[in-house]
Amino acid sequence: MDGEVNDQQRHDEIAAALRAVTERVAAACRRAGRSPDEVRMIAVTKTFPASDAAVLADLGVRDFGENRVQEAAAKVEEVARLRPEADVRWHMLGRLQRNKARSVARWAAEVQSVDSLRLADTLTKAVRAALDSGERDRPLDVLVQVSLDDDPSRGGCPVDDLSELADTIARQSDLLHLRGVMAVAPLGVDPAPAFDRLASISEMLRKDHPGATEISAGMSGDLDQAIAYGSTCVRVGTALLGGRGLASP
Ligand SMILES: *Cc1c(COP(=O)(O)O)cnc(C)c1O
Repeated sequence: MDGEVNDQQRHDEIAAALRAVTERVAAACRRAGRSPDEVRMIAVTKTFPASDAAVLADLGVRDFGENRVQEAAAKVEEVARLRPEADVRWHMLGRLQRNKARSVARWAAEVQSVDSLRLADTLTKAVRAALDSGERDRPLDVLVQVSLDDDPSRGGCPVDDLSELADTIARQSDLLHLRGVMAVAPLGVDPAPAFDRLASISEMLRKDHPGATEISAGMSGDLDQAIAYGSTCVRVGTALLGGRGLASP
């Protein structure tokens, strides 16, 4: 009985947060003179239970993001068990160790954090193996994560290396689909200049790869600015599900 009350409470809490985020995205689009259809939202469920993802799926959310492979693999399975009918897509957002590529190739529709030639090469092989064994049935969508602050500890490929990395991914088009760029704004400063820079980088990339139109930028704290600078994909955790605490960035 208590369990049911808590479930209902959590459902209502998440539903209200989702309405608020949807309105924020719509308002940012209006201010930027853009259509809300141009901006998709990935619900970032890292550190939150599969039951929260199931609630979001019930509310019509289709895209989910995780940043740790082991946690993600378990959650993907659990959500499939809780909501076998739900049409959901999982996105890998975090730094990806190459020995985890095989797992990601089983469950991810998209990897947004490809930032090196070696990782692209490992993913290519992992996707080929997953296709061969019937564990997946389509190529992997890929975004190149770009470093906007030249801080290697935060992931992302240096802007100077982007074009070679993009060309390499594009050559594997039967296995990897190059969809665009992703970035995380530098910490502790106004994110607007970084998003502006990412927009120029995306424009440059599209000269050689016209299909690579995605710009994944903006999280709970800065999605409004990101949309003003052309983001096509916001990644929202805290504003939907609450704080994660200090131990879980
Ligand atoms: C955790 C995370 C997010 C979501 O951040 P919030 O501030 O909780 O919305 C977005 N992108 C990446 C890469 C993340 O790791």
